[in-house]
Amino acid sequence: MAVLLRRGLCLALHRALGHGSSSGRRPALPAALLGACRTKKTWPVGFPQEELRKRLTPMQFHVTQERGTESAFRGEFTDHKEDGTYTCVVCGSPLFQSATKFDSGSGWPSFFDLVKEESVSLSDDFSYGMHRVETTCSQCGAHLGHLFDDGPRPTGKRYCINSASLAFQAQDAASPAPPGAGAGAGAGAAGAGGGGSASEGKTEL
Ligand SMILES: [Zn+2]
Repeated sequence: MAVLLRRGLCLALHRALGHGSSSGRRPALPAALLGACRTKKTWPVGFPQEELRKRLTPMQFHVTQERGTESAFRGEFTDHKEDGTYTCVVCGSPLFQSATKFDSGSGWPSFFDLVKEESVSLSDDFSYGMHRVETTCSQCGAHLGHLFDDGPRPTGKRYCINSASLAFQAQDAASPAPPGAGAGAGAGAAGAGGGGSASEGKTEL
């Protein structure tokens, strides 16, 4: 509900900005309202940029922190078929289940549903002269990809996600916590051990 309201507001604001300059009278739009359209808001979990530059690959940093896009068919999870959970590469929050992954032919990992509706935030993206719906991790604000309405049943949605935004937790490895890996389960803390589970689940092909 709130997301829909905000999306409508953003559309109206951008239209107003696009047409308002010629008359010389710019509408006094509060900066806070404009900011609501973008990801410059505070998220429950934050990480220092220096830490992320060390912990993430350059592509992971570019996609999640600079709203970049990896090349189609190049990401490590595009054709990934294992059973398990895809998590945010930055904060470890669970985002998608392998059971909802499908082959969209787009060249990016595609899902028709979320682990939980609140795990991903939606916002308007007007870059490249078009309007798309950006998907962002609700915990840390990492850019994930975009949402389209041409997905398969039952949802009809297609979450088009960069592999670089994701880590993977295989189903059989998800439940038993290895002894001594204390920080693994807590998704929140910005501690130095936070990256452990992310790199652990990844196997380069
Ligand atoms: Zn996250």
